[in-house]
Amino acid sequence: MVIKIDYNKCCWKDGKCTSCGCGSCIGCVEACPVGAIKRAKKVLIDKLKCISCGSCVNACKHHAISLA
Ligand code: SF4
Ligand code: SF4
Repeated sequence: MVIKIDYNKCCWKDGKCTSCGCGSCIGCVEACPVGAIKRAKKVLIDKLKCISCGSCVNACKHHAISLA
């Protein structure tokens, strides 16, 4: 299983939330049990750390992350 993020759907752009303006899209980063996701200028997923648990897929309200 490979984790993928669709940057068109992800609301975190240029270091901030562009959806509701909260400034901290709560979701994927908080859901990951192994700390494989971080918010930089864009959301970055460390594929070497990812254990394909699917928590971030379920946590993302914009359906921007998929496992295939
Ligand atoms: S939860 Fe979804 S929309 Fe929010 S930062 Fe993560 S991938 Fe982007
Ligand atoms: S699938 Fe699980 S381990 Fe992989 S990035 Fe998402 S929450 Fe983290």
